[in-house]
Amino acid sequence: MEIVTDIFATRALIARAPRPVGFVPTMGALHPGHLSLINAARAQCKTVAASVFVNPLQFAANEDLGTYPRDFEGDRAKLSAGGVDVLFAPDVATMYPPEFTTTVDVGEIGRTFEGAIRPTHFRGVATIVAKLLNIVAPDVLFLGQKDAQQTAVLRRMMADLACAARVEIVPTLRETDGLAMSSRNVYLNQDERAQAPSLYRALQVMRDAMEAGRSKSQAVIDAHAALGDLLQLDYFDVVDADTYRPLDVLRAPAFVIGAVRLGATRLLDNVWIAA
Ligand code: AMP
Repeated sequence: MEIVTDIFATRALIARAPRPVGFVPTMGALHPGHLSLINAARAQCKTVAASVFVNPLQFAANEDLGTYPRDFEGDRAKLSAGGVDVLFAPDVATMYPPEFTTTVDVGEIGRTFEGAIRPTHFRGVATIVAKLLNIVAPDVLFLGQKDAQQTAVLRRMMADLACAARVEIVPTLRETDGLAMSSRNVYLNQDERAQAPSLYRALQVMRDAMEAGRSKSQAVIDAHAALGDLLQLDYFDVVDADTYRPLDVLRAPAFVIGAVRLGATRLLDNVWIAA
């Protein structure tokens, strides 16, 4: 595995690499969920590129940028063992030099749900992924279904800006008790960790209620009742998979989405409903 920190060196490496090139952007602190994206890329592409970059632009001032888990040596070993060919690991000054001013605003799709709670988040995500796509120029971009709104935002951005890469969405990898794997799960204490899987159970309750024809408000009440008492609801909803607009009646492809607070940690999860 070649490790590159420089934009121009990355371009030069990729220019010589066999195509198709698959690309997996990450913020590091890698877990098996990230590695399932690497495996999907390896299965479909001749060259696999990954990035590790904790993107300051997608964190608000009051969020966990300073404490976000970092383990570059561990990440490097996992990516190398996972068959990654090129690891792009720039520093902040490379991606955001002092003169940097351009950002990508995806509009309404980035202002609801996570975007309502974190108003600058998706601008940060869209900006860094646009820049990474310009540097790596992949044929296929691999994204996790775990971050459902991110998949919708980035697919919108890539269509709007005529980005050449195709997007492949990889199913969420879970712990055996159903909790979606996340770099932030390390923040949970023992009691919180024990209750955390109830988010996924509640989303399944909501999906089943919607599929049985119950109203959305009743489905949300049913789902809420399935949550452990430490989990505080931010939102539960059913949204169109492409526009991320709320649906009153289930119409696939859709996501049943949920976000909760568990102590100081926010947990996000979703259930996919295929067309
Ligand atoms: P992050 O490092 O959190 O920015 O995530 C990098 C990529 O890994 C994103 O496309 C995430 O959606 C994806 N990802 C995170 N957790 C999981 C998971 N449990 N299963 C599959 N993909 C995941």
